[in-house]
Amino acid sequence: RKNVGRITTGSKALDDLIGGGIETQSITEVFGEFGSGKSQLAHELAVTVQLPIEKGGLEAEAVFIDTENTFRPERIEQIAKHFKLDTKKVLKNIYVARAFNSSHQILMAEKVNDLIQEGKNIRLVIVDSLTSHFRAEYVGREALATRQQKLNQHLHTLQNLATTYNIAVFVTNQVQARPDAFFGSPTKAIGGHVLGHAATYRIWLKKGAAGKRIARLVDSPYLPEGECVFKITEEGIVD
Ligand code: ADP
Repeated sequence: RKNVGRITTGSKALDDLIGGGIETQSITEVFGEFGSGKSQLAHELAVTVQLPIEKGGLEAEAVFIDTENTFRPERIEQIAKHFKLDTKKVLKNIYVARAFNSSHQILMAEKVNDLIQEGKNIRLVIVDSLTSHFRAEYVGREALATRQQKLNQHLHTLQNLATTYNIAVFVTNQVQARPDAFFGSPTKAIGGHVLGHAATYRIWLKKGAAGKRIARLVDSPYLPEGECVFKITEEGIVD
């Protein structure tokens, strides 16, 4: 893969764990319990993608597909201030789309093509949360196959964006604290070829002591498994 770009997470330790920041042309899935920091990471990246390349950004804009009303402009402003960026400009460079149900979510992802055709310099697409609507709408064993099929269609759209336009895709996935639940991933179908040639990174977030967070890289195509610690502060994600 050529010309892969990287976006800093704000934490050097986390960047190092995943090979230097989240990658373009790939889907990065972050999963963990409620409150583990998935949305915080999404907000951080929506800001850092706007940084110059030497500061870990791509001097570009972001799309934030918000399925659970988690987007907080005030939080973006706090993080932007930490990087001494113009908060108004930073907010203007984030295209927030509320997705009211899974079909709407699928449509919003497809619409990113239009934004790019209009000339917008989008290098990051966030879906927070990837899975909530699908889980709520396709309930029970009979609905499982349809749910996975719809989710695959959505992931296919996201992967196409990633490879066609050299975009980083960042998706969140809430899971229960039960360890056995961690093996199920929407981005890695067991024995399947859901994402074709996609490189998918999976980061498991856990709460640690004293407000710390532990990130564990799992099922990575090229990188060794490992863990690191970072913090969520008023300024955003830090070491
Ligand atoms: P989820 O994994 O459910 O998306 P979030 O990303 O929303 O979780 O993380 C919420 C947590 O992030 C809060 O419980 C808190 O610990 C931390 N957090 C959020 N905002 C701030 C802030 N301004 N300062 C410090 N910590 C914060």
